[in-house]
Amino acid sequence: MADEQSPLEREIRRLIGIAGPIPVAEYMRLCLTHPQYGYYVTRDPLGAGGDFITAPEISQMFGELVGLWLASVWQQMGAPANVRLIELGPGRGTMLLDALRAARVVGGFQQAVVLHLVEVSPALQKLQERRLEPLGLPVLWHAALEDVPGGPCLIVANEFIDALPVNQAVKLADGWHERVVEIGADDTLAIGAAQKPLSHFEATLPRGLRLSPPGSIYEWRADGAALEIGRRVRSDGAALIIDYGHAWYGLGETLQAVSKHAFSDPLHTPGQVDLTAHVDFEALGQRAESMGARVHGPISQRDWLRRLGIDERAAALKTHTPYGKAVEIDQALSRLTAGGAKGMGELCKVMAVSDPKLDQLPGFET
Ligand code: SAH
Repeated sequence: MADEQSPLEREIRRLIGIAGPIPVAEYMRLCLTHPQYGYYVTRDPLGAGGDFITAPEISQMFGELVGLWLASVWQQMGAPANVRLIELGPGRGTMLLDALRAARVVGGFQQAVVLHLVEVSPALQKLQERRLEPLGLPVLWHAALEDVPGGPCLIVANEFIDALPVNQAVKLADGWHERVVEIGADDTLAIGAAQKPLSHFEATLPRGLRLSPPGSIYEWRADGAALEIGRRVRSDGAALIIDYGHAWYGLGETLQAVSKHAFSDPLHTPGQVDLTAHVDFEALGQRAESMGARVHGPISQRDWLRRLGIDERAAALKTHTPYGKAVEIDQALSRLTAGGAKGMGELCKVMAVSDPKLDQLPGFET
């Protein structure tokens, strides 16, 4: 048994031994960003032989449409001479490369941009440095959004929020208890419930969930990221947030682990598999709104991409390519827009948060 444990599992067992069971959010944080053994800190999960694939890695069309969106919002902002283009969790930098190439059609945009990348992974930062260098644009890296200087900004985040730690509570006979990771009866890591109920927890829940039956599970994230995004964009800014998630609050557990493109057990080999949980877009929007920002959407990724013209872009790309490549383009288009569990079109949502002056943003027009 002992030699099957990942280095991070040994560390987590040590922490539980000292201080007792740890909340699920703390477990997720350690798994993804522990400075020595964290999943993102130690690898490029999107590279060849990686664990998962994201929309910008599926097709250039995704980043291109994001780029046109950014340049068009920049024009609506009055084309400020300097704008901070902030990406949260840029991965391999692919989305930015495609976005900035496509946005060249909008004169002056590239010249106005300073890139700020919020990235926790030293491995991915190196890769981003290398891939973005040919752009010849100023690029700065930061550990957190809070560290980026103020001023007019455009923020993009694709599959970033779903990697932020999620808390879970379960309703038991005497109230809601935080879910924790503990050492189970068979000496493996197991999910349990904290001994004492969370005080006054039910009053903090959306009204529709307050009388949930015993056994119900509720997930939530710390407010920090949503409040900070709202604060930054409320004067002269806009953010585009794309992620797996639900438009309305709800019950249920969505924490999941992925390794080598297949689901795996979140408690097995911590630090060596990707962990994510769905984004509660309703909560995200409410937090951003509470800071004075305007919320647009969320709408499905399929609707957003279609409104921005992905079908036309796919048709244009196909006219000048050999047959094999055209099939690839159709497959990518379908993956990005299809509904159901296989496609990203409905599961992924797109939300924008902006300066309230910007009342109609591309793709979200009402
Ligand atoms: N946006 C990219 C990558 C998504 S994977 C794409 O769509 O392909 C998640 C990204 O967020 C990675 O770059 C990861 O290193 C980064 N990340 C995860 N947690 C983070 C955190 N807490 N702070 C900063 N970056 C983080």
